[in-house]
Order: sequence, then C-alpha cells, then structure tokens
Amino acid sequence: MTPGDAAVREARQLIGARRPALGADPLEIRDPGNGDLVGLGARGSADDVAAAVAAARAAQPAWAATPLGARGELLRRAAEMLAAQRGAWARLITREMGKPLRESLAECDRAVAIVRYYAAEAQRPFGAQYASQETPAWIFTRREPVGVVGVIAPWNHPGAIPTWKSVPALLYGNAVVLKLAEQAPLSGLVLVDTLREAGLPDGVVNVVLGVGETVGAALAAHPGLDVISFTGSTAVGERIRAAAGVSGARAQLELGGSNAAIVRADADVELAVGALHAGAFATSGQNCTATRRVYVARERYDEVAERLVARARAMPVGHGLDDGVELGPLIDRAARDRVLAACRRAEAAGTVLLAAEEQRDGRLAAGAFVGPALVGDLPHDAELARDEVFGPALALWPVDSDEQALALANRSRYGLSASIFTRDLDVAKQFVERIEAGVVRVNQKTSGVEPHVPFGGWKASGHGPREQGRAPLELLTREKTVYIHPSA
Ligand code: NAD
Repeated sequence: MTPGDAAVREARQLIGARRPALGADPLEIRDPGNGDLVGLGARGSADDVAAAVAAARAAQPAWAATPLGARGELLRRAAEMLAAQRGAWARLITREMGKPLRESLAECDRAVAIVRYYAAEAQRPFGAQYASQETPAWIFTRREPVGVVGVIAPWNHPGAIPTWKSVPALLYGNAVVLKLAEQAPLSGLVLVDTLREAGLPDGVVNVVLGVGETVGAALAAHPGLDVISFTGSTAVGERIRAAAGVSGARAQLELGGSNAAIVRADADVELAVGALHAGAFATSGQNCTATRRVYVARERYDEVAERLVARARAMPVGHGLDDGVELGPLIDRAARDRVLAACRRAEAAGTVLLAAEEQRDGRLAAGAFVGPALVGDLPHDAELARDEVFGPALALWPVDSDEQALALANRSRYGLSASIFTRDLDVAKQFVERIEAGVVRVNQKTSGVEPHVPFGGWKASGHGPREQGRAPLELLTREKTVYIHPSA
C-alpha cells in the first residue's frame, strides 16, 4: 500500500499469505476532521482469528530458527523503508484519526526509532553465565521465543503502538496476530506491508480486523496464544485479563490514565504552563499520558490558570492537514458528544475557566471538533477528577501544601504518568519516591516517552511487564537454564 494519497483505501486482513476480500458489509473509516470516507475495513470473525492463529503457529518455528542477525537485518531494512515513506505515512495517520500532521510526523519518527532499536537488539547480549559451585559444568541462561503473540491496539497512535507492540515480538522470534483498531487500521497496515516487503515470511505477522467485541474478544480468548499484549481502555483491559486467566496466556495490559501534575510556588511558571498546555491538549487530549489534573500552589493559582486559558484560547483548531493547526478533531462524533457532555457536567460543578465549545464554524461543521476546556475547583470526586475523559479538558485546583498536593495526585485509581514543577531538589525527590505512577517526571509534561526506556502504568493503568526498550524481553521470551558438563 502507498500510504497518504486521497483514494478510498481497503483495510484487508492478512491471514498467512491470504488477504481476503472485504465482503458485503465492511466498516467505514472516516476522516474525523471532515467526515470524508478514507477507507473500508474488513469486518472479521472468530473464524478469521482462528485461521490467523493457526497460520502464526505454523510459521513461528522456522522464523525462530532464522538467525537472530537475519531477523535484525530485516528490521533494519524495514526501518529505512518506513523512514523513506514518513511523509505519506504521517498524512494517512492524520486522515484516519485526526491529529495534526506535525504530531503524526513525530509519531512516524518514533515508530522508525523503535524499529531501529529492535534491529540493533540483535547485537546485544542475552542471558547470563554462572559459575558452577559443585562441578566443572558451564551454566548459562538462554532466551527463547515464547511462541505466538496476540496484539490488540487502540486508534490514538495507530502507527507507533502497533510498532512497539509487534516489532520486539518479531525480533525475539515470535509470530504475531495483530488486531488493529476499527477506527484507524490503515496506518498499522503500512507497518505490516513494509515488514513483508522487507522480507518477513508469510504467517509470521497476521492481521485481523473488525469490531472489538467480536474479533478482539475472540483473539484475547484464543487458547493458541502464548501472550496477549493489549493497549486500550481499562474497561476492556479487565476483560482481556480475565480471558487470559482462562487461556493461560501471559497478559500485558497498558490502559487508561488520569495523570496529575503539581505546580509548586517555586516553579518556573513559563516552563510549567508550556508543559501543562502541551500535556493536556496534544492529540486533542487523546493521549493515555495526557495531563488531566493540575494541583497548583495557591499563591500561583490565578497566574497559572490565566496563562493556561490564554494559551488554550489561542490554539488554532482545524483539520490536521491544514497549516498551523494545533488542535485537531476527536476520533468521531460520538466521542465529541461524550466529551462535551462530561465538560458540561464539570462546568456545572466547578468554576468555568474556559468553556468547552463544539466547533461548528465553516469547514469544521463536518468534523468532530471540541475546543479546549479548563475547569477550576471541582469536587475531588467529580467525574473529570476521577475518570478518564478522553478529550481536551483540564481540571485545576489550588493547594496549600506539598502533602496535600501529593495526596490528591495519588487519589486516583489510575497510576500512569505524573509530573511536578519545582526548583527544589528535595521536594522533587520526595515526589518521585511517593507518587503512585509508572512514569514520573520533574519539570516535564506527563505525556510522551522515549522509545528505549521502559514504559507502563501502575494500579488500574497497567498490568504485567513494561513495554519498550529491553523491558518486553521478560514477556516475549522464555528463559532456559543450561548446564554443560564434560563427558569425562
Ligand atoms: P478500546 O479499549 O476501546 O479499544 C482498544 C482495542 O481493543 C481496539 O482494537 C478495540 O477494537 C479492541 N476491543 C474493544 N473491545 C474489545 C473486547 N471486548 N475484547 C477485546 N478487544 C476489544 O480503547 P480505544 O478507545 O481504542 O483507545 C483509547 C484508550 O486506550 C484510552 O483509555 C487510553 O488511555 C488507552 N491507551 C493506553 C495507552 C498506554 O500505553 N497505557 C496508550 C494509548 C492508549
């Protein structure tokens, strides 16, 4: 597939070497910025899932027997091919899920960096050597592939998330069955097609598409999987964890968040406001690591709130392919309505700093646009404080002490990412040690992560081994301890 052009594309499944035709009732893939039809996606079935798992099982032993260097070299080629089509790939991401092109380009760069990282992983050491305490034996450990890995991906990073979940599995010698999100499957297919063009054998990566409750649920429950790796909402993640409990597959879940930031009185307010703004409103607030709750030292509260409102008000809203746009649409109109309704409830319960506005002017009328929203001083158990409202809405509270700020930041079922803005190293250290989150930052936005370091959430934000860097080795391989003793 050549990504990025204006034609209506087909998102077909990939089962072994087969790409079945779409059938009579495909799913529509619509540009959330203007409602245009971008593509038609296969509506797969549980039978397709079973066929894809069987194809993966059949292909995996030969792939595992392929020298690690050859697997790494294939990934290196794929990385360069992806880099070469970065512009077109990014345009496709923007067309199918809406984020501004600048963000889509950054997503593609990140995906390429991930593939390069795992290409180089082929040259890094695996396992450890031990001295036998009793005999002249050599003792060492080796890492072997776990087998077949099911991957279920969301729509918000439709290029990068399928990449960081699938590519390490492949490098370590596993076969993959990938379920892409029904709203935005085309960008993940670019990765898959590129891997195949780079030489990945039939059956080593398979793609199933369609409705989550059908295809995703069938994949999560399939007894032929050794691992199920899921990124998406906490509600669906809980079902996947239950299914894996029955099938016995290892489960890795990366889930929702309600990420808190603290701004102390000693903070660099300019830096903090820039980071809070970017953390809250990038990808229209549809990042799992988006900043959602901010606790500000009371003496700086008005200043921070005013500056955040001014920044938010000035954001150009529009189609992600238009020049200079900072805030794109939400994923679809249903999401727009949900986010607007949640903002209205918050506005009734707190102080309106900047009201959420449905954007209907001119060309925006056909899209799913909500302007940025800021609400002050909500009850701490209000929906916007408690749940993940997946849109451009930020809640602020004044606080009177570090203890109060930390207690409120930790007062959440989620624990994905958190930030503090301060110049005081002792306070920062305390925060790092006491915050209940899988990622913690000092003087940086809550969102984003570098591709070579572990990433994952605590509490209701995640389960199982971390992702990225070397962290998935634990999930995606089995360790074998080897004793070699001389025969005489
Ligand atoms: P979602 O849970 O609705 O869907 C994610 C995937 O699961 C999709 O492919 C969907 O088809 C599939 N699915 C839906 N129902 C299923 C079921 N019953 N069984 C199996 N699969 C099913 O999430 P979404 O709306 O696509 O993505 C947004 C969510 O993802 C947010 O909660 C966000 O915080 C989270 N997210 C988390 C991370 C992270 O790394 N922690 C990263 C990105 C997104």
